[in-house]
Amino acid sequence: MFVREIKIPTGNIKVKGAEKKETQFARLGIANVGSLLCHYPRERDDRRFSIPLKDFYKNTDGKVCNRFLVIAQEWFEGRAKRLLKIHIQDETGRAVLKCFENRKYLEHVLPVGKYFFLTGKFSYKDGELQSSNFENPEVDIATETDNSVNTEDGTKKFGNGKSFGIIYPIYPLTAGLSNIELIKIMKKALQQYANAIEDELPKSIIQKHRLFTKAQSLCAIHFPQSPTALEKAIQTLSYEELFFMEMLVGMRAQERKKLVDTNIKTNDTLTNGELSPLQRQLIERMTFSLTEGQQAAIKEINTDLEKSYSMSRLLQGDVGSGKTLVSFLAAVKVKEKGAQTVIMAPTELLSRQHAENAAKLLEPIGIRVAFLTGNIKSNGRKNLLSALKNGDIDLVLGTHALFSSGVVYKRLSLVVIDEQHRFGVTQRQAILSKGENCDLLMMSATPIPRTLALTVFGDMDISVIKDMPPGRKPIQTHLARLSNIKNVYNSVRFELEAGHQAYFVYPLIESNEDSNLKDAVSTADYLAKEIFPNFTCALIHSKVPDDEKQTIMENFRLGAVQILIATSVVEVGVDVPNATCIVVEQAERFGLSALHQLRGRVGRGNSPSYCFLVYSDGVKDDGKQRLMVMLKNNDGFIIAEEDFKLRGPGQIAGTEQSGNFSLGIANPISDVKILEHARRDAFAILENDPELNSEDNKVIKQVLQRASPFSY
Ligand code: ADP
Ligand code: MG
Repeated sequence: MFVREIKIPTGNIKVKGAEKKETQFARLGIANVGSLLCHYPRERDDRRFSIPLKDFYKNTDGKVCNRFLVIAQEWFEGRAKRLLKIHIQDETGRAVLKCFENRKYLEHVLPVGKYFFLTGKFSYKDGELQSSNFENPEVDIATETDNSVNTEDGTKKFGNGKSFGIIYPIYPLTAGLSNIELIKIMKKALQQYANAIEDELPKSIIQKHRLFTKAQSLCAIHFPQSPTALEKAIQTLSYEELFFMEMLVGMRAQERKKLVDTNIKTNDTLTNGELSPLQRQLIERMTFSLTEGQQAAIKEINTDLEKSYSMSRLLQGDVGSGKTLVSFLAAVKVKEKGAQTVIMAPTELLSRQHAENAAKLLEPIGIRVAFLTGNIKSNGRKNLLSALKNGDIDLVLGTHALFSSGVVYKRLSLVVIDEQHRFGVTQRQAILSKGENCDLLMMSATPIPRTLALTVFGDMDISVIKDMPPGRKPIQTHLARLSNIKNVYNSVRFELEAGHQAYFVYPLIESNEDSNLKDAVSTADYLAKEIFPNFTCALIHSKVPDDEKQTIMENFRLGAVQILIATSVVEVGVDVPNATCIVVEQAERFGLSALHQLRGRVGRGNSPSYCFLVYSDGVKDDGKQRLMVMLKNNDGFIIAEEDFKLRGPGQIAGTEQSGNFSLGIANPISDVKILEHARRDAFAILENDPELNSEDNKVIKQVLQRASPFSY
């Protein structure tokens, strides 16, 4: 039986009181013995060895763990409260337990002459060794002989094996269920059921990685004999979760490859990804040549487009690496097949910029380009929609409007999603459903950490553009305290006087009574009047009407506006090479990836560029730590990785793209090595035995069919 199949009610575990805990268990999501055994400790306290009083200073937190004798009790009358002092001693010294109101019951639990085990934090105060930092379950009654048993190997055995002398598990609890109670029930459950629990991993895998069996892992995750055993249990259970996750990922990829792309793909056009005639024509018309990364990416995409099944590819490249052009080249190939492409971007601003570039680059080589957003009204829209439907348009760029209900495509074959992290799965599905087995190219300027590439995006193929177009100067990043902002203004003025342009970015649009965040609206006024009166400023944020936004951006692009004051709307994609400075105020309020995106707005031309991250005077240490990551790294991949680590594994379960992965014990961020192994194993198995029919692999199929590995 697999552990999740043990549906026996917890009340049937013959522990006195277990049956009375059903409501508490229900609150913890424990419905039966199976889910009980999968309720893992949240932390552990190593109480295998005694730490006597005299050694309290050896531990940074003053930890002591030993058997004591109560030698006296003393009551003190305070101004408002009474205090009980219990004087205790072990073989090395004496100390005092300070018991306030909530601990008064200890008067009866620990009478003079009684032996007991205790663990707590001790420190010197008022000339005595004291502790007020111990919890009720950490006191355990002992006998006079408990501590003096000599084991066979001559070492002195410590503890009574109940809550002392062991690695003590500390569980997630709920009102009415104590840790001690849960431990008792858990022990009973393991005794009764562990032997019958079957492995869920193939034998060969367990042997290959020297993992525990499932039963061994469960015993050791709750009551490990040693830290090594615990580590091995965690490793086994983590591996198992990640293995099944990767199995599902691999099977999803397998499914996709079974779906034959009905879009025309004739074998006689197989070129191994070589550039097509029209693609070559486009490249020849350009003033620069493709970077190696761009060349490799388009080659991979071309190869995909020639395959019999749909492409599902993620194009990664740091901000400014030239992903847009790669997607244009893909659209060119699709046009040559006589089919249509959409390029969807999250903001009107960005999609308009893409559409303008596309018109400039692609119309001269005979590609019919259109731009569609929710703001295109009546006649214009009607004509556009019928052109799309009739196939008179080869490439349409726009926002979410591209998948609104009235939009029909003649033969949509390629869907490009720019800044994919701004879209959810449903939106991705909606646009894909406008065609039949469309090829999908997702682009991400926020590089995707290794973990996500292996999990959430694990069934996609990935292309990475590692290099930047030549001539780019690294952006100089400076951190500045708010009280020094005048220096930042001076540096910006210097750049403006040299004919360059600048961005100022704020966390809020308008000032908000409840918040002390800086806002773009009032600061815009101040900057324009007080700081930069000789330059033209403009304000842009999500509430500015779209046509106005468009004019402002156009003026900024043309240089008529020198200072653009904005919220993070400029975060994605905006491309104005003459802008050489960006100032982000209250930078500690932004995520690292967002800051990296913002910084990527400059450094797009040939002049040196600057990014000023201004932080509030009262910023906390960890806030500053994060900004240091920006200072030390220019590489978006490293920043994304750091950002991801700081935000934690909740990210994976939290991303809409992740589907139903909920991990119990594996941490795919810190366990990325295990994740890689699990993926390699799972994919190799699927490659050699796609139907999972071999004797060894049968168990995988059984697990997936009988007990969902992601629901307890
Ligand atoms: P991102 O990858 O961030 O989307 P873009 O596609 O916006 O980057 O490209 C950034 C800028 O680099 C654009 O102005 C684009 O024209 C330019 N560019 C793209 N490829 C090259 C290249 N191979 N050489 C020089 N400039 C390039
Ligand atoms: Mg881009």
